[in-house]
Amino acid sequence: MMTFEGLGIDARLIQATDELGYVNPTPIQEQAIPVLLSGTTDFVGLAQTGTGKTAAFGLPLLQLISEESKHPQALIVCPTRELCMQIVKEIELFKKHMRGLHVVAVYGGASITMQIRDLRRGVQIVVATPGRLIDLIERKAIDLEQIKYVVLDEADEMLNMGFRDDIEFILKNTPKRESTWLFSATMPPEVRQVSKRYMKTPVEITVGKANTGNKNIDHQYYVCSSQHRYETLKRIIDFNPGMYGIIFTRTKLDAQGIAEKLTREGYDIDALHGDLSQGQRDAVMGQFRDKTLQLLIATDVAARGIDVKEITHVINFELPDDVEVYTHRSGRTGRAGSQGISMSIVHSREIFKLRQIEKMVQQPFHKLDIPSGKDVCRKQFFYFMDKLLQTDVSHGDYETYLPMLAEKFADVSKEEVLKRVVATEFDRFLKYYENASDLNARTETRVRERTTYDRGDQRVDRNDGRTRDTRGREFSGGDGNYARLFVNLGTKDGFYKASFLQFILDMSELKKESLGRIDMKEMNSWIEIDKSVADKMVKSVDGKTFKGRRIRMNDANSRG
Ligand code: AMP
Repeated sequence: MMTFEGLGIDARLIQATDELGYVNPTPIQEQAIPVLLSGTTDFVGLAQTGTGKTAAFGLPLLQLISEESKHPQALIVCPTRELCMQIVKEIELFKKHMRGLHVVAVYGGASITMQIRDLRRGVQIVVATPGRLIDLIERKAIDLEQIKYVVLDEADEMLNMGFRDDIEFILKNTPKRESTWLFSATMPPEVRQVSKRYMKTPVEITVGKANTGNKNIDHQYYVCSSQHRYETLKRIIDFNPGMYGIIFTRTKLDAQGIAEKLTREGYDIDALHGDLSQGQRDAVMGQFRDKTLQLLIATDVAARGIDVKEITHVINFELPDDVEVYTHRSGRTGRAGSQGISMSIVHSREIFKLRQIEKMVQQPFHKLDIPSGKDVCRKQFFYFMDKLLQTDVSHGDYETYLPMLAEKFADVSKEEVLKRVVATEFDRFLKYYENASDLNARTETRVRERTTYDRGDQRVDRNDGRTRDTRGREFSGGDGNYARLFVNLGTKDGFYKASFLQFILDMSELKKESLGRIDMKEMNSWIEIDKSVADKMVKSVDGKTFKGRRIRMNDANSRG
């Protein structure tokens, strides 16, 4: 087994890693550290969060930097404030025995004056979000003249968030840069371009497979009908009483709505979304970190950069359109060697999407049955019993009360006491789940057996006459009153279902009621529409332009 010493890490840092309980380097550390310690080699590390990449660049940086010089020598740029703070926290731990080294975090949403003051005290390592860093450069509050090492952490996230210009600006304004280290979970073309333009023949290392999920994560999914999504979520939460998890939604309205509903029903949950002030966001994150909140519900944007250890579950309330988003979401769990579960609640019509993600992640997704009410009660029951047995009673002055208790319960049997204890805890579940219905969608097996997905045909059979569209109307199956139209616009064009619906309705001046289901993919979509108005829709949309591109719409079933 490789050791940190064997990788060339010096004694003061090893003392720190020992104290942190790091026994052996992780694979990314093993591969990156010897390269980075040279100080002059550019480096690209394709690694997910949770692989130990902060130490992979943090340890070599600390070793390379001169404690005597009080100028910034290393710049770590990362996408979010949370990640910024996280990195500083880890570096502080690593540099515990290097008193002369100082590190500071600069990020948006906090007082710039304070950060300028911190910078003036003399720091060697600056950890920054791109926007705030540019602010500081423009105010001449940070000196990049002596920067030798630039680390771009979560480069794909930064580029996704539109920080490309800022990153290029930063790279152009570090004239003494001796090496650039780029870390990214994925390698989209934009990241590749940055590395090509600003790095000299970088050593490239991939830990696991780029674009694939972490092996410590078990991918599971539940199939329900769309009107049962919320109930399914609740049932999954109830079935996993020890869960400490993040639920992802596509919209902030969903995040807010579900958080409110679940809070009303007694769950410890709060939402993280773009409308929160920095103070509110910090408060929510603080509560989640110290586990006052069992659950956090967040949109993808709001959850960027969150790094909380020990997350047991990630729940996709809906599947994201993009496989990379799925990878980011699921990567919040199963960190640093621990096991995690990424669950998705899918509608039978979304299974084709799930299969696509599964293919990209290159790991099997396991279908689980949505637990029945009885299953939930049983699970809660066992959980409670275990908790009861493990309750620490060594601290309280229970002995004083024992005689009193004994007297009070003199005529009640042990079984009776147990029943009552359980009843006080369980009434809520028993009552709630007494008549709980089966939430598993019944169409799933038939849908999976069909091979029509590859042709872009996601029609669901009406095998039991129950399949309904999202507004609760019975779904025609495409062979009744609906025509199915193909359009060459999709999520890549910036549309979500609602905005897309509005867009085509505005264009065709048709009523919402004439539409059936809409299936959106990245590049194309399929729309169900009343046959009587399908022609009108095609005539008003086909041939129009969107962002300079010609829109093509035609009847999907009559396409060559
Ligand atoms: P990161 O990829 O930097 O987000 O690291 C994920 C977690 O792994 C952090 O909590 C680190 O403290 C932990 N970690 C990093 N390196 C090691 C190691 N060699 N052994 C054990 N834990 C580690």
